[in-house]
Amino acid sequence: MNLKIFITLLLVIFLLSSCCNIEPDSKTPSPPSPVFLKMHFIDVGQGDSILVETPGGKNMLIDAGDNSEGERVVSYIEKEGIKRLDVIVATHPDSDHIGGMDNVVESFDVGKIYMPDKTKTTKTFKDVLVSIRDKGLKITKARAGVNIDLDPSINVEILSPNSAEYEETNNYSIVIKLVYDNTSFLLPGDAEGFSEKEMIKKGYDLKSDVLKLGHHGSHSSTTPDFLEKVSPKYAIICAGKGNKFGHPHKETLKKLKKAGIQLYRTDKNGTIIAISDGKRIEFNLEREDN
Ligand SMILES: [Zn+2]
Repeated sequence: MNLKIFITLLLVIFLLSSCCNIEPDSKTPSPPSPVFLKMHFIDVGQGDSILVETPGGKNMLIDAGDNSEGERVVSYIEKEGIKRLDVIVATHPDSDHIGGMDNVVESFDVGKIYMPDKTKTTKTFKDVLVSIRDKGLKITKARAGVNIDLDPSINVEILSPNSAEYEETNNYSIVIKLVYDNTSFLLPGDAEGFSEKEMIKKGYDLKSDVLKLGHHGSHSSTTPDFLEKVSPKYAIICAGKGNKFGHPHKETLKKLKKAGIQLYRTDKNGTIIAISDGKRIEFNLEREDN
């Protein structure tokens, strides 16, 4: 071999090996990025709207407030940098839960939509159906005992409806229990005492760290037996300031106080964000109660 070529080859090998040696050292190993479950209880006045951001980067919206709140819910989700809602849950067809849902469906890429097997003849309800149809989406009927496949790092189970028919529309509410590692959230929509009794009878594990109170803290929900089974550390009430229903009712507030449960309220605290690392839950409040 020609000496010149030999030296050039050696040089190339040296350069290559030195550059390759330098490469790994120049990269400081990045720490594993923390993974959180973020639950946003969006302040929509008198109504419910809960945005769930999972540790694996999936998104679920449970309810979208009343008609007047649709744009606000959309812009809130957009501000989170979210373009796709993998799952939408419309707990039941009352306007304070599904009013803003047509805006949401129109504004985002949507995966699955869960609704109970209950219709309403209102324009609000029809608007939601039209938005779903126009997007070429199908409704998945919610049934108790079914798991929602959202993110393998969390468990999302439907605990109600348990019957085909109810007298009260509120009792058709889709009730969801969400578990991330050692932390858990129970989200009962507007489910009332009758539905609570059914869930207890079915033997579901209701114990949860956080309970979003059923039906905006009305006395028709959060029966003593149910509260005891859930025995939450934290309670959240989604209600509008000075609402005409008097929600939350004083009987409910008394029960929470007696049980020593920490309470947050959207009418007092604005939007409430609960962040779980799987072990602990921290709360970010839009404003302190005053
Ligand atoms: Zn409601």
